[in-house]
Amino acid sequence: MAWVAAGAALQYGIAYKPANMGWREAYVLPDTVDACQHLSTISAEVLAAKQSKLTALRVADPDPCVTCDRCRVRLPDLWLCMTAGCDHIGCGRRKRGAHALNHAERHEHPIVFKLHSLDMWCYECEKWLGNDGDPAIECLRVKEIAETLAEPAGRTEEEVALFDRRQRERAVSTRVMHSDEFYLIQADWRNLWYDFTMGDRIAPPPSLGDAQVQLATRIERSDPVLLNHDYYVINRQAWEFLAQVYGPARSLSEHELRNVAVRQVLVSLRRILPNE
Ligand SMILES: [Zn+2]
Ligand SMILES: [Zn+2]
Ligand SMILES: [Zn+2]
Repeated sequence: MAWVAAGAALQYGIAYKPANMGWREAYVLPDTVDACQHLSTISAEVLAAKQSKLTALRVADPDPCVTCDRCRVRLPDLWLCMTAGCDHIGCGRRKRGAHALNHAERHEHPIVFKLHSLDMWCYECEKWLGNDGDPAIECLRVKEIAETLAEPAGRTEEEVALFDRRQRERAVSTRVMHSDEFYLIQADWRNLWYDFTMGDRIAPPPSLGDAQVQLATRIERSDPVLLNHDYYVINRQAWEFLAQVYGPARSLSEHELRNVAVRQVLVSLRRILPNE
């Protein structure tokens, strides 16, 4: 393992560590330099205050009734500001008001906590916190915070597993670059998966197989299908990942697409079977 000077990590303001690690050890782990620095503002005291806020909320107002402080948006797309002394609850950026984002920008309060799924987002770093591939120290702290802010009964093993799975699956980029092979994925299924990775839906979607067969049938019949309405285009890596996790899944060959209504994109599809 490569080590960096403790001072170099300190200058990034990292002030948290996993319970099983000494402070010195935590500071000199090379990957702390890429961790979200804003996480260090969530001290034990701040976390205790957020916990009380959530307890009060659950007592006074059972979760499904919570609304955005500025509009009527309800769960699942609600975010608690994690800055000390601030209890703002705002709606997500995909909502008309985007009140969590507006609040973060106006007050420079970077981190928010998703009430529905216990995930965290940093508006400064513009990313989910504790994703797969993020520095271990960040992932551990994010888990610790989720654990502390979960319902008093704690999280079940299944809930913890789904939380981890979301962190892993949202790290999968579906973005298609110029030179990529393209894959079509049925929109309804993709939306379920997207909602799962965004923490709007706790359960992952069902298997991809039937959804892809439906799409294939429409394309074979030359029914008109619309990009981002009936289907999305994803890259090969994402397709392979999804086919492996949610497969077996039907993919369409170039031959099958020769006479079809899909004209918006250049498509080159290949049959991919899991574990082939
Ligand atoms: Zn950050
Ligand atoms: Zn709102
Ligand atoms: Zn705030």
